[in-house]
Amino acid sequence: MLTVNAYAAPSATEPLIPTTIERRDLGPHDVLIDIKFAGICHSDIHTVRGDWGPVQYPLAPGHEIAGIVAEVGSEVTKHSVGDRVGVGCMVNSCGECKNCEAGEEQFCLNGNVGTYGATDRDGTITQGGYSTHVVVTENFVVNIPEGIDLDVAAPLLCAGITTYSPLRHWGAGPGKKVAVVGLGGLGHMAVKLAHAMGAEVTVLSQSLKKRDDGLRLGADHYYATSDPETFKELAGSLDLIINTVSATIDVDAYLSILALDGALVSVGAPAEPLSVRAFSLIGGRKSFSGSAIGGIRETQEMLNFCAEHGLGADIELISADQINDAYERVLASDVRYRFVIDTATLTGQ
Ligand code: NAP
Ligand code: ZN
Repeated sequence: MLTVNAYAAPSATEPLIPTTIERRDLGPHDVLIDIKFAGICHSDIHTVRGDWGPVQYPLAPGHEIAGIVAEVGSEVTKHSVGDRVGVGCMVNSCGECKNCEAGEEQFCLNGNVGTYGATDRDGTITQGGYSTHVVVTENFVVNIPEGIDLDVAAPLLCAGITTYSPLRHWGAGPGKKVAVVGLGGLGHMAVKLAHAMGAEVTVLSQSLKKRDDGLRLGADHYYATSDPETFKELAGSLDLIINTVSATIDVDAYLSILALDGALVSVGAPAEPLSVRAFSLIGGRKSFSGSAIGGIRETQEMLNFCAEHGLGADIELISADQINDAYERVLASDVRYRFVIDTATLTGQ
């Protein structure tokens, strides 16, 4: 066992605190990663605050991990010491079900093992990336191409793949009108990626406060959803809407701005249900769907795509003692556009 410095939530209601956690001994297929940077995803906040159900504490969150391989198990073939690597939202899956075989490990029929708060195959509870090191089986470690700095690469491991996957699945590209709801961590990556794929991109944000940023990130249009005129102006016009909002939204209102056969895809995962009227779908053969991260193969494809297009996240680099403040700012939609922890500042207890 390796004892490493970390930041963890002692309960759903207390601030995160410095601590140490244990990492397992390296198995033959394991990779030990010296974590350099870890992004703060809104899912970390949902999880530690119990929005999605009970979790075991203390819990060190973090599933946007970028670092350097420090050691490899005896049978590892995919990674070598010194490689620049990343780990996202899952660290294992059964590898045998039809979805795993199709490279969609995130939909493992036996349940993938989440990077934190999940029961690992050895029965222990996984702990995430707000720590200095992690041990992960080689198949769930991806390569970060040269050309993307590790700090701006970290958020790609969740925010990047979670938006890249549905954009690809629903065919974002030239001639497609794509809207992104919510300009936060996921949303700003959705804008960059959809733009790089050649789509016409619209941002739908609560206000016009971040308009200049949105246009700089690659949006062609920017609207405030607090203005009812927005929904009148855009009625029936969009091919694809990616909803990244962490709270509930008026699904029917967003369906009304889709064109015939358009799709509203929710990646945002609020605790409360999202409701939809049947007639919002029937009138215009529209669909309302969801999407979860992406498979390992697609995550590597996304990283390569980002390297090719010179994309990384727009980040605010923080030290460990700023994590709790960063949580409050994320909850207040005051993030531009991802907080990333410099793990060198994790000092332990
Ligand atoms: P984030 O950085 O907090 O961004 C969410 C954005 O949604 C905010 O910046 C804000 O944008 C908008 N928003 C927040 N509260 C709102 C409200 N009450 N009404 C309307 N808009 C609101 O969060 P994130 O890290 O991007 O994550 C977004 C959601 O995706 C979370 O629920 C997270 O758990 C989920 N998620 C899902 C997956 C998946 O695999 N499906 C993966 C990662 C994250 P504006 O200020 O522009 O309005
Ligand atoms: Zn995430």
